Amino acid sequence: MQLERIAALEQWAESCDFNRVEVRGGDVGVICAGAAYQHVVEALPDASVLKLGLTWPLPKHKIADFAAGVEKLYVVEEGSEYLTSAVAATGVAVSEFPAPLPRDGELSPGLIECAFGLEEPAHAEVPDDVPVRPPALCAGCPHRLVFKELSRIKAIVTGDIGCYTLGALPPLSSMDICLDMGASVSMSHGFELALAGTEHRPVVAVIGDSTFGHSGLSSLITTVYNRGAGTVCILDNRTTAMTGRQGNPFNGVTLQNRESRELDLMGVLKSLGIENVSLVNPHDAKAVRNALKVATKDQAGELSVIVFKAPCVLLHRERKPYFFVNGNCRSCGVCTSLGCPAISKDVESGIASIDANQCIGCNQCAQYCAFGAIEQMPAASAEAVR
Ligand code: SF4
Ligand code: SF4
Repeated sequence: MQLERIAALEQWAESCDFNRVEVRGGDVGVICAGAAYQHVVEALPDASVLKLGLTWPLPKHKIADFAAGVEKLYVVEEGSEYLTSAVAATGVAVSEFPAPLPRDGELSPGLIECAFGLEEPAHAEVPDDVPVRPPALCAGCPHRLVFKELSRIKAIVTGDIGCYTLGALPPLSSMDICLDMGASVSMSHGFELALAGTEHRPVVAVIGDSTFGHSGLSSLITTVYNRGAGTVCILDNRTTAMTGRQGNPFNGVTLQNRESRELDLMGVLKSLGIENVSLVNPHDAKAVRNALKVATKDQAGELSVIVFKAPCVLLHRERKPYFFVNGNCRSCGVCTSLGCPAISKDVESGIASIDANQCIGCNQCAQYCAFGAIEQMPAASAEAVR
């Protein structure tokens, strides 16, 4: 049955619209898939392209026909040779690039042009005076203060896969390692074992609700079973935000967006026999700080789980009146260290300012200003400005 389905899929791959040929010139033909296609079209506007929307099973006959219509056939892919090997295995001759494509990093039109022996385009050069803006958590993101507080206690943070992995980047810079889904919990277990008996920084795992449901739960069971220690923070933002707000076992919606059973996260944790389990509002800076302090100091040597629960800002687009910086700013830089995209500072004076259009009124930054310089706009005035 399975083999019959694969055979049917092979046939369908030959005719389906997802595998599309774009004929331009006959000299160069490129086979590519996914985002690489955009870069190929930009870098090689005269090349014919076979864009694969289905990379397994490959459309062998379509590939052979395409190869026969061009003088030289190349395969362009990012950080891998999977497609190159698979296309070559169909029996067509795949040409080598004049200069190799890098095996790591992101693909770009410039890199493709270099691989084909052309000049790297001027637009790929970044001028020196462009300010560095690493990707950031959204304005009002419920994960932000957890990372801010983790950086304050200088924890060894084992991270996981999700939008919260952005907590690794400046200015929060509070994730030390990230491997694959569910590994945050296993790694913190391992760090605790390896560092046992030494004076060490607190070890804290950070994992989202969706990833926890996917594979963090089994890692936590292993930690409990082996009498492991450390702190596990579950960032429950009620969705799978990074990949498009899909459902997960802990928010009561299926992948098809149908209503389903919602697993009781707190109940699941308690049923595992973990004694130190707490539920915390991640927008409340004092509550976040206190929960981390209790877990990493008072309960050090034990296993603690903190569930930080608040919906992702992309789920609820309700905007409260925005915050603004009044005349009391002392340029201390604390609010900008939160990395909220709505907050910036004057390059010369260091005086902070808040972009009313980006601010969603989460009140996180105001809790960090020791000078009372961040205030919320009265609702009526905020509406008038926006
Ligand atoms: S925390 Fe307050 S004083 Fe410090 S830069 Fe921000 S607004 Fe100014
Ligand atoms: S209140 Fe502060 S932290 Fe929240 S979105 Fe506005 S500027 Fe950002």
